Amino acid sequence: MKSRFQSGKSRIIVLVGIFIAVLMLVGGLMHVKLHALLRGNIERQVAAQAKGVAQVTKSELEAEIKKLETISGLFENGKVSMDTLFAMLQEEAPASKFGILELDGELIQGEGMDLSGFSGVRESFRGNSRISFQQGNGLLFSVPIYHNGNVKYVLYEFVEAEVLPSLVTLTCYGGKAKLLLATRDEEIIVQCEGWEEKDSLFLRSYDAGNAFAQINEKMIIATEAAAYCKEDKNHYMFAADVGDYDFIIVGFVDEETAADGVFIIITLVFWVFGLLLLLMAIGMAFMFGAEEKARESEELRKAKEIADSANRAKSDFLANMSHEIRTPINAVMGMNEMIIRECKDEAIKEYACNIQNASKTLLTLINDILDLSKIEAGKMEIIKERYFLSSVLNGVVNMVQVRANQKKLNFVVEVDETIPDELYGDEVRIRQVMVNILNNAVKYTRTGSVWLRIEKEDVKEQELVLKIVVKDTGIGIRKEDISKLFNGFERLDQKKNRNVEGTGLGLAITAKIVDLMQGRLEVESVYKEGSTFTVRLPQKVIRPEGIGDFEEKYHAYIQSLQSYRETFRAPEAEVLVVDDNDMNLFVFENLLKKTQVKITKCTSGETCLDLVCERKFDVIFLDHMMPGMDGIETMKQMREMDEYASKGAPVIALTANAIVGVREMYIAEGFDDYLSKPIAGDDLEEMLQIYIPRHKLIFGSDGDEVLAENTGYGPENRKEYQWIDRELGLRYSAESEEMYREFLKMYCDMMPEKKERLELCFENEDWENYTIAVHALKSTSLSIGAKILSEKALALETAGKAQEISFIRENHGDAMETYEMTVQEGWEMLR
Ligand code: ATP
Ligand code: MG
Repeated sequence: MKSRFQSGKSRIIVLVGIFIAVLMLVGGLMHVKLHALLRGNIERQVAAQAKGVAQVTKSELEAEIKKLETISGLFENGKVSMDTLFAMLQEEAPASKFGILELDGELIQGEGMDLSGFSGVRESFRGNSRISFQQGNGLLFSVPIYHNGNVKYVLYEFVEAEVLPSLVTLTCYGGKAKLLLATRDEEIIVQCEGWEEKDSLFLRSYDAGNAFAQINEKMIIATEAAAYCKEDKNHYMFAADVGDYDFIIVGFVDEETAADGVFIIITLVFWVFGLLLLLMAIGMAFMFGAEEKARESEELRKAKEIADSANRAKSDFLANMSHEIRTPINAVMGMNEMIIRECKDEAIKEYACNIQNASKTLLTLINDILDLSKIEAGKMEIIKERYFLSSVLNGVVNMVQVRANQKKLNFVVEVDETIPDELYGDEVRIRQVMVNILNNAVKYTRTGSVWLRIEKEDVKEQELVLKIVVKDTGIGIRKEDISKLFNGFERLDQKKNRNVEGTGLGLAITAKIVDLMQGRLEVESVYKEGSTFTVRLPQKVIRPEGIGDFEEKYHAYIQSLQSYRETFRAPEAEVLVVDDNDMNLFVFENLLKKTQVKITKCTSGETCLDLVCERKFDVIFLDHMMPGMDGIETMKQMREMDEYASKGAPVIALTANAIVGVREMYIAEGFDDYLSKPIAGDDLEEMLQIYIPRHKLIFGSDGDEVLAENTGYGPENRKEYQWIDRELGLRYSAESEEMYREFLKMYCDMMPEKKERLELCFENEDWENYTIAVHALKSTSLSIGAKILSEKALALETAGKAQEISFIRENHGDAMETYEMTVQEGWEMLR
């Protein structure tokens, strides 16, 4: 998978690379093209400048001719004499030489000189004004002088080469260009100011020659032209004809001057282009990346699907395994309990006790693995309910105390008296967290003490943070090992701990549960000195009253435990148990042997249906997983039957399937309750005490009903209650305060659900089910001592059976009110 992702990435890099290369090529071409375009443009501008200079030069030369023509015109008209004419000319241009020639070439006035090299003189005798040049001499301006319509004289002005610069300006580009005036035969007439020898050399260079060749070509059809020349620096050479004369302006200017910043456009264009390129590259990378991501996430989705289904398979497998393993353990533990109960041989009893310990450990391990798999499958739910912190602490402390005593460790419990007792949260999971951490503290401490401190933090009106601190003087944890603590199946310091039992799951589960409860778990430890585990759990507060003196409460609780009467008898009671496993049936029967309950066993749903039609059972235990018709189907078919002998008997699901939410599932399916396997003798007895009709239950060892003993709650401490007869309730709980509280809590917890069911039947006028429900209400209410409600329920049940619907309609509301008050009082008692 990884290499595929990597190849995907390199594909993107190659594609983006190609894209950038193509763009750079395009950019390069654009650059060349742009340069060519701009150069063409600059050439045109330079040529135009040259033309301008040529025009200026032309007008400067023409001005000189005009001057001569004007003065000669004055002479022609006889306005001035020849002498005056001469004086005027000399005054105008003292540096020039003047002369007047007769037709035969004779000098009649002025300074004589050799005029043979100046072709213009001849032309002037033909009636034209001319400017002619002779290399090494200078310029000669000549104009004809007419007399009676014919040329009589020629007037000339000779300007020496040195004086020429004052006659023609020759400047352009603010003096930055170098230029000269020459004949078409390339004879230099005059150079501009600042012309240097190197400029002449440059003009004769190879590249300049090339440029001039281009210019010459262009000038076949144009009067001015320019060409780019690369020599050292970039230059533009130029040339322009000076009017009708045979002169031309020739020169050059450097590119910087000629371009006048035009090339900044190219820089700008390339910046913009570069930025666009960058943007496009980013965009493309992003696009490819997104596409790749989409592909990867598709792959990931598929991989996740596969992993999910594998995980589901794993969860199912674990759930089934839990069932498969729990069932035989159920048999082993049950049979073993029989041995412990009945065997007189002490040695065998000891073996059996060892089996019991090992089975319990095995069961804990299975539960741990199940918990972890539930968490991993996201099926671990935090089920919040109201609970009493004192009751959680009682159970936890009692359990840890026994272990601490065995190891002769000092176990100190400190509970902040002001912590509210009645909270809202997941009692079961909080208990699990405390037990895991405390068990570790005891396990990994050889001598010294274990402290449990319960404090509160961040107290608000309706919530607080429950702070649980567990400190020990144990073996401690190395700093580098602390991060490994919460890895599943990881155990530290194997050498030291090899004799300590454990799988390394406890803290992994604890940490995840704390996480699920939005809590925090912190560890501090000094190797070889001890560790402190701190858990912080946000909890809702139901009532702000403090827990009070925990030690005192714990003492009372221990006393109530000691006064627990473990058994009842019910020789009249008929119980049906359905399970496909004979061994389980045998265990079930034997667990109840002493209670004298009459047990009927059967191994299939079909037989069960036959039996319930024939006989009236008080309670039916139905295994869930059975070949053929399973427990749920059997129960549904039973409920659908119109008339059968056991109608109204509570049906309890019996299953080794211990995954989360299973109890709710069975109740929702229509079972009255749920008992998990392996069945604990105590749990089974507790359940039977709830569901066997009161009149069939006998408490005490010899058949006499036993009255309440002192349970540590003296009558002087007791409040008078209106709806619940506590003494009566205690009697039904084998005089066990603890059991009574458990019953009462269960009764109160179940009220909303039961009441809703009653209300629904009432609204739907489903009198049959209504009667069944009030029947159950009658007996459960009596079991907690709610005599008044029990009687009201009995009256409703009787009316239901006799079809006296008007009685039900009149008394239903009153009974429901009593139900509410009773439960309210129940909660008060539990506080
Ligand atoms: P189990 O799954 O039965 O709880 P376990 O106790 O080995 O097995 P964890 O509770 O997850 O597993 O603890 C993991 C490891 O952390 C332990 O094996 C032990 O090495 C170390 N450890 C946990 N608590 C303490 C402690 N209070 N003092 C020292 N070491 C501890
Ligand atoms: Mg542990």
